[in-house]
Amino acid sequence: MEANGHRILIIEDEQPIRRFLKASLSNEGYRVSEATGGEEGLRLASAQPPDLVILDLGLPDLDGQDVLMRLREWYTSPIIVLSARDQESQKIKALDSGADDFVTKPFGVGELLARMRTAMRHSHRVGAEATTIAIGNLRLDLTARLVYRNDKEVHLTPLEYKLLLTMVKHAGRVLTHKFLLQEVWGPQGTQENHYLRVFVASMRRKLEDDPARPRYILTEQGVGYRFAAE
Ligand code: CA
Repeated sequence: MEANGHRILIIEDEQPIRRFLKASLSNEGYRVSEATGGEEGLRLASAQPPDLVILDLGLPDLDGQDVLMRLREWYTSPIIVLSARDQESQKIKALDSGADDFVTKPFGVGELLARMRTAMRHSHRVGAEATTIAIGNLRLDLTARLVYRNDKEVHLTPLEYKLLLTMVKHAGRVLTHKFLLQEVWGPQGTQENHYLRVFVASMRRKLEDDPARPRYILTEQGVGYRFAAE
């Protein structure tokens, strides 16, 4: 697939990973620039803003979280963070600070490319006012606030509908518990993780063919949920 020469900035101190990423992304038609630390990354990003940033959270000079926050003061295109395994709290913090997605090391390039495409598609879709959204055998009629599964209306409560709509609008992206609670229940709801479990279980029963092996509402262990893009 040709990537139309989108410019990607990789901020990563580990040379083998940087080399691997540069080779893989160049091969896909992306134009790649590299920074080996946070300061250099910030400098390159502001000198020539890329279409997407891949940011390692473990950098030698600056904390990756600080790089992320400083970028997000002005940079609006997608940022995908790379993090080590078992760093759930780091991932959550990054997502809540404006990262679009994360990839856990070690990762396959296919997975990263898919996340990049989703993030860039999302950032280009802003402003498109759809009245219906169809995903698989589900259809949302946004004006009537109705949901259909296999063309049969599904009864959702108003809060379930709100939660579903939030997930669908960000399809393909991982959404943290905190983000979802805040979107649906407001600032008071952000401590109530159990609300989400209850609502997701109920929505899966209504929307999924096999609620025990969901196809749409996917669990991101310890982090949140992702609504499958396709
Ligand atoms: Ca690193």
